[in-house]
Amino acid sequence: MNLTIKDLEKYFKCKCCGKQMTFNLRQIFEYPKTWHYKDGEVRRISVCSEKCKTNYESQYFVEEYRNHKIYCINGRYIPYFGCHYSFSSIEDCKRRIDDSKAGYYPWKLLSEIVRN
Ligand SMILES: [Zn+2]
Repeated sequence: MNLTIKDLEKYFKCKCCGKQMTFNLRQIFEYPKTWHYKDGEVRRISVCSEKCKTNYESQYFVEEYRNHKIYCINGRYIPYFGCHYSFSSIEDCKRRIDDSKAGYYPWKLLSEIVRN
C-alpha cells in the first residue's frame, strides 16, 4: 500500500474540533501540542490552534491549587496537564502538590510518541 502525503493528510485532523490540519513539516512543528489521555495511556498530540488547546484542556479542568491546575480525566486527578501519573482522589492529588515525595501511581506508560 503506497500512502501519499495526501492520504496521510486525511487522517491529520485536530483531535479537539475535528478540523482538517495541513500536513507539512513546517506547519507540524508550529501546531500547539497537548496531551491525549485514553485507556490509561498518555499521548502527545497536535491541535489546530491555541484556542483549541485551551478548549481541549479546560474541559478537564477542576480547580487551581497553589498555582497548579488540577485536571480530572476519567475519574483520575492529575496535578498538571500531560502528567503521567494520576490520583484516585483530589485530596491525594493536592497532597502530591504539597509534598513532591508523596507516593504516586503511574499511568500505564506508553513509549510510543505520536509523531504528527
Ligand atoms: Zn482544533
